[in-house]
Amino acid sequence: MVDQSTPLRKLLGSSAATLEKAFGYATCGDLLHHYPRRYAERAVLTPLAELAEDEYVTVMAEIAKVDSRPMRNRRGSLLEVWVTDGSGRLKLTFFNQAWRAKQLRPGMRGLFAGRVSSFRGVRQLTHPDYQLLDDDTDGADPRLLSGLIPVYPATTKLPSWNLAKAIQTLLDTIDLGPDALPEPVRAARDLLPLERALHFVHRPDEWSQVTAAHKRLRFDEAFVMQVELARRRVLAALEPTTPRAARPGGLLEAFDAQLPFTLTDGQQQVSAEVFADLGREVPMQRLLQGEVGSGKTVVALRAMLAVVDSGGQAALLAPTEVLAQQHARSIDALLGPLGRQGQLDGAETATRLALITGSMGAAARRQALLDVGVGDAGIVIGTHALLERTVQFFDLGLVVVDEQHRFGVEQRSALRDKASTPPHVLVMTATPIPRTVAMTVYGDLETSTLRELPGGRKPIATTVVPVRDQPAWVDRVWERAREEVSSGRQVYVVCPRISGDDDTLADADGEPVAPAADDEASAARESWAGVAAVNDVAPMLADGPLVGLRIDMLHGRLPADAKDDVMRRFAAGEIDVLVATTVIEVGVDVANATTMIVLDADRFGISQLHQLRGRVGRGSHGGLCLLVTASSADSAARERLDGVASTLDGFALARLDLEQRREGDVLGASQSGRRSHLRLLRLLRDEDVIADARADAQALVDADPALESHPALRAAADALGADDRADYLEKT
Ligand code: ADP
Ligand code: MG
Repeated sequence: MVDQSTPLRKLLGSSAATLEKAFGYATCGDLLHHYPRRYAERAVLTPLAELAEDEYVTVMAEIAKVDSRPMRNRRGSLLEVWVTDGSGRLKLTFFNQAWRAKQLRPGMRGLFAGRVSSFRGVRQLTHPDYQLLDDDTDGADPRLLSGLIPVYPATTKLPSWNLAKAIQTLLDTIDLGPDALPEPVRAARDLLPLERALHFVHRPDEWSQVTAAHKRLRFDEAFVMQVELARRRVLAALEPTTPRAARPGGLLEAFDAQLPFTLTDGQQQVSAEVFADLGREVPMQRLLQGEVGSGKTVVALRAMLAVVDSGGQAALLAPTEVLAQQHARSIDALLGPLGRQGQLDGAETATRLALITGSMGAAARRQALLDVGVGDAGIVIGTHALLERTVQFFDLGLVVVDEQHRFGVEQRSALRDKASTPPHVLVMTATPIPRTVAMTVYGDLETSTLRELPGGRKPIATTVVPVRDQPAWVDRVWERAREEVSSGRQVYVVCPRISGDDDTLADADGEPVAPAADDEASAARESWAGVAAVNDVAPMLADGPLVGLRIDMLHGRLPADAKDDVMRRFAAGEIDVLVATTVIEVGVDVANATTMIVLDADRFGISQLHQLRGRVGRGSHGGLCLLVTASSADSAARERLDGVASTLDGFALARLDLEQRREGDVLGASQSGRRSHLRLLRLLRDEDVIADARADAQALVDADPALESHPALRAAADALGADDRADYLEKT
């Protein structure tokens, strides 16, 4: 008895391991949902006359001639098989496999797959995979001869037709059990029953069947995900929290009165949304997105002050120490006397700031923990060290998460445990998120958006510097840097690595980031490209084009106090050129820095570059961003860089980013190296499907939160929620 949970091993024996390795499949259900990548139509299989060299092809043809002979200049034998489809001829070549002449006989038809090469002007496939269609002994599936031929995502060890055969066998034997999609939903959306959908997707007779099957199976993916998210919303709403409203004559009012600028309309509007949320018993779950420099921090600070006014505390969680320290400094500056309760210059209504990081000294830490524990510190800023058990709040009312990376369900529950009622949560991000992604990945977050930059900001000009096509431009890059410095400005030089002997690239915390997208680029060893490591570049600049300037380095492996020291000196204008890793990517705010030079820019993703670029042009001087790359003119990497250079619109870039990456990457599956659950659903294309599924899921869960009358659906949602491949559901 085979069902969806039966281990693949029972069905396939040793091939199961190959499938597990290639696709992460463990059960028969996994294999059943391995859908064809495309379908070959019998009538329109690639005509042999049109084969393009170097392409991996599957052709159907008839064997015309078989010729086996010893090789001329070497030992061994050569088997040449000529096949034809009426339009052209193709040679199949096998070395030392003369025995295949017994299988491959003139007059037989088959499917042949391999990479097209050319030898003395004749196109050929060397050692192709093949399946003979009319060879009974080989067990060819007669169904392969009619309708559409499914072509599966395959590997060399398991070619498409072996997968096809296994799936066909499975389809005939498996007991699918009850359909997880409730009948009323299925009928109302005009979707096929599951069994028919699976048959149509794996063995269609015509295209309309494929379309109908995709419609059903795509909906399933959206629906189960939305059911799981709806369940989480219901659970969250069951646990009321304390409303937190600012009081008249309190800190917030005093802060607004001393603010040196007027809030933009967007800041006003988003603040109003946030205050409305904070006044409710349902914990706020809000995502605040806005361009780098759009002024999110002020919005967050006002929310924190409202919470302090109501008698509670607010925590600001930053991804790195550098950022936590910088936030502490800039919030201290913005608050002035309002943040210095108990000090000589402290205002009457004042509160106190506490900074908690992993590297602080014992005495300072003890004092900070005390301030937080007794409630004297209304605003607590820190890294993940805030989540440790020893950090106890007096009354935690709001958590602000700056740049959402790595704030998952565990972190959230750690913070939850530190408060008597669930804290309100505000997540800030400078990477804009398309609406469909917000509905799925961020399914339980409301979103607010800041669309304008505070006035007086000059735009940032971005130029791609292709060192291969324009080697002379590199000199110009360093000249530009000198010019900026001599007019009193500062420059960042960003490198993907810390030191040249690193195999891995390094990000803000010294953890590996994605390797080169473009092998070509990484292979290049031309000037200032393919070599960019902080420890190498800084001395190369100091001895070379930037001799005489004050140059220093910043990266994740420096001790925390050294990092802080470098940042402070850079902010104070004591460093002209800062050579750094992406440690400066988020939040670092030095208005006098006007130029950002990114070396090996092709090593970075679109949103990273956009973030980096946001570090310059924060003051009244225009910003300049130079993306130095060795990637070739028509590569995907160059397309990415040109995209970044062509627009400052973060939303357009987010879209480009999503289009360039596979969905699985978006959903975090690439980190674990395993495939995501989404096989057919595409977040950008299937906005309507996701919206429909969300509406249906919400209605169903509202009526039956425990899914008592839908056991099969409950099992599917449970499985999704429990699977670590679905970590993206917890990205918030
Ligand atoms: P974000 O966190 O969105 O990148 P910040 O909050 O750090 O942006 O703001 C960037 C800079 O703009 C800060 O120096 C901040 O003090 C300043 N700023 C914020 N809001 C305004 C405003 N309404 N008018 C002028 N300057 C502002
Ligand atoms: Mg910020």
